[in-house]
Amino acid sequence: MIVSKCAICGGKVEEQEISEEVVRVGNDFVIVENVKAGVCVECGERYYPPGVVDRLRDIERSIRDRKRLKKLDVIGSTYI
Ligand SMILES: [Zn+2]
Repeated sequence: MIVSKCAICGGKVEEQEISEEVVRVGNDFVIVENVKAGVCVECGERYYPPGVVDRLRDIERSIRDRKRLKKLDVIGSTYI
């Protein structure tokens, strides 16, 4: 267990496997599948274990680095 109590609202934090977590940098999004995280049952705040934090940061770096982004699969576009 990562944390048992939410730092924001004091609610109970339960470990969950999130099927799709979205990492966003500006207008670019990367969907990360099957992420383990502690989720607050009250406010929904997520707490990630260290390994997952590193993985998400690495993906964030990939978004900033266009060359590395090309290695990822494009599954759609976002329009406004
Ligand atoms: Zn909370």
